[in-house]
Amino acid sequence: MKKISLLGATGSVGVQTDNVVRHHPEHFQIVALAFGENVDKGLELIHTHRPKLVSVKNKETADKLKGQLASPVKVVYGLEGLIEVAAYPEADVTVNAVLGSIGLEPTLAAIAAGKIIALANKETLVTAGHLVMAAAKEKHVPILPVDSEHSAIFQSLNGEKQSQIKRLILTASGGSFRDKTRDELHNVTIEEALNHPNWSMGAKITIDSATMMNKGLEVIEAHWLFDVPYEKIDVLIHKESIVHSLVEYIDNSVIAELGHSDMRLPIQYALTYPDRLELTDTKQLNLWEVGQLHFQKVDMERYRSVKFAYDAGRAGGTMPTVLNAANEEAVAAFLKGAVTFLDIEGLVLQALEKHHTIQHPTLETIRMVDKEIRRAVQEAIRQR
Ligand code: NDP
Ligand code: MG
Repeated sequence: MKKISLLGATGSVGVQTDNVVRHHPEHFQIVALAFGENVDKGLELIHTHRPKLVSVKNKETADKLKGQLASPVKVVYGLEGLIEVAAYPEADVTVNAVLGSIGLEPTLAAIAAGKIIALANKETLVTAGHLVMAAAKEKHVPILPVDSEHSAIFQSLNGEKQSQIKRLILTASGGSFRDKTRDELHNVTIEEALNHPNWSMGAKITIDSATMMNKGLEVIEAHWLFDVPYEKIDVLIHKESIVHSLVEYIDNSVIAELGHSDMRLPIQYALTYPDRLELTDTKQLNLWEVGQLHFQKVDMERYRSVKFAYDAGRAGGTMPTVLNAANEEAVAAFLKGAVTFLDIEGLVLQALEKHHTIQHPTLETIRMVDKEIRRAVQEAIRQR
């Protein structure tokens, strides 16, 4: 029986984790969970899993939740609450599926407490990959990828030596606007951007997929997870999202992981690794039914966010923190209707260009830069 602490329980990955756990009650148990403000969904999850500790976004939500709880559960809130859930003593695994760089300190706390980390929260690795990986190494804690591309790479690496890897190839669906030209992106709406062709995900990551910043963030995530330099990480557009990513070896042999788009598979694999379990209502992949698979090079002028991410990753230091914080703020503003789709890119670029990289940043420095950049982006939006 694996005991799980689940952060971001009410979100897209959180709910699919709940589904995996409910499929295998003999293997998994959720002992602590955290969410933001969705009390209705939170109550449903508390009722199903009966966790001993629950954390929510703020005091107001905590009070609201306490007023509706049928049985006594310890309720905490804020970043401190999130950290308490992440490091919950009884848990073996911490699934981090919270949204954004707020996930960083909980991840570090879970590592310090010796938990296995199942990581969906890619912003954690983008904003402070060097700190997270160093802490995990020191504590001998595995960081198991939940992100489907990284899970595919993890499965395709199959324990081969680092020196035998020639390239990691991340596939990208191209998002909601794959077939639009850059000019056609000027007037796209929030609803259009939220309409992802292959995956059903939270709002922020769906927008990130449309700008392809998601792939940029994933390049940085792959760099840290697999300790591979940026020159050896490529992105390939693959509209069917059947090939989830590939590893090329020095003998030019390529190994990939394939399947239908279903996040429950990488979630479950992170929970069962190195074993596998059945997942009854998933769809079997019959390639004869799919028929054709398409692949295309990424045009870095069309998808500038991918280039920004490579540049920020290579610059290192605080630059990826800036990339991530600016992007989080810009996407949130787009989702509120405060800026246009192409403004997202513009705001990120502006933040990157203004920043002077600080190399080897501490957690304090990262926190400070993250805050400063968010403030600067909000200011830039107000001045428009
Ligand atoms: P969602 O927006 O669907 O869910 C986010 C979750 O985080 C919700 O439970 C939300 O709570 C909670 N949350 C947000 N802010 C806070 C806060 N301040 N304190 C506590 N909880 C908070 O996101 P996704 O599930 O789509 O994505 C989660 C992470 O996984 C992201 O990093 C994303 O990049 C990554 N990921 C997602 C994939 C997907 O298929 N969705 C695929 C691969 C990676 P509430 O809603 O109750 O306010
Ligand atoms: Mg992904």
